[in-house]
Amino acid sequence: MTQFLYQEQHWQSQLSDLVTNPQELLQLLNLSAEDLLSGAILATEQFKLRVPRAFVGKMQVGNPLDPLLLQVLPHHLELEDYPGFVTDPLGEEQANQQPGVLHKYKSRFLLTLTGACAVHCRYCFRRHFPYQENLPKNDDWLNIKSYIESQTDINEVILSGGDPLTLSNRKLQLWIERLESLPQLKFLRIHSRVPIVIPNRIDDELLSVLKNSRLRIILVVHSNHASELDDFTCSKLNQLSEHKITVLNQAVLLRGVNDSAEVLTDLSYRLFDAGVMPYYLHVLDKVKGAHHFDLDPDLINTIYTELLASLPGYLVPKLVREIAGEKNKTPLFGVSTFSS
Ligand code: SF4
Repeated sequence: MTQFLYQEQHWQSQLSDLVTNPQELLQLLNLSAEDLLSGAILATEQFKLRVPRAFVGKMQVGNPLDPLLLQVLPHHLELEDYPGFVTDPLGEEQANQQPGVLHKYKSRFLLTLTGACAVHCRYCFRRHFPYQENLPKNDDWLNIKSYIESQTDINEVILSGGDPLTLSNRKLQLWIERLESLPQLKFLRIHSRVPIVIPNRIDDELLSVLKNSRLRIILVVHSNHASELDDFTCSKLNQLSEHKITVLNQAVLLRGVNDSAEVLTDLSYRLFDAGVMPYYLHVLDKVKGAHHFDLDPDLINTIYTELLASLPGYLVPKLVREIAGEKNKTPLFGVSTFSS
């Protein structure tokens, strides 16, 4: 796999040439199809395989347990039901005020402009979210504007997913300009995994759109393992901080992927190399199909306690859980404060 090719190729070409066939993914990694049970193919019928070739290029050839591969490879266990694992673990359908608007927190709300992602993470808490019924159309802007104006506490909009950086720069700019026209808004947060899986998404046009906004932009990327952050990806992420854009990372604690203090320590240091501050470490949201990524609460406490000892405080992400209906993410400290 030539990573060099993906350093030259435009991000939209990469986005239109994703790996969507599990057998092809295994072939690219020199893994036998026997590593893929038939149930895994069925799992892709519920939640399709999507993975950019640049991200496949960061996986270790011949390693069926590669931590990047495990995040995207469908698994037959996704088809099994487990108590407590449900299709809408965060109760988002309740918080869905109108197409595109998810209002869960006091001063900020989520605007979902697209249901598309560059990569399908098998543990995603929105893997069952009915995006098609909830995407705003162009003329829904006036309703969204009225909604924001009616909620005087709102000073921040979070563009969330789907992944907002799958939108073209032109469309992104249009929405940013609309939001800029509302004086009450001060901050714009963008949640995206695209810069990690297609680093070329950080192009000059995007930097210019973000840099020239009157809103204070915070880009929250999503990386779970230091292997996702090769030198090219780090150099692209560094361009954001060079343009005075605040870049934070949220990770999800996943069995088999990053369930050790050592792996999480490497991730924090690598993020820092890339000009990105560790922000959240989420425990898994109990979404149907992701049980095989779940970890025992005692093990989570052990890992996090070791992480606290291993890193300087400014590189320790906050361990949190999102609880449906709560007005903020719930910080988790020590065994006594949380349970499965
Ligand atoms: S990129 Fe984010 S929204 Fe998309 S599948 Fe992955 S975790 Fe879910």
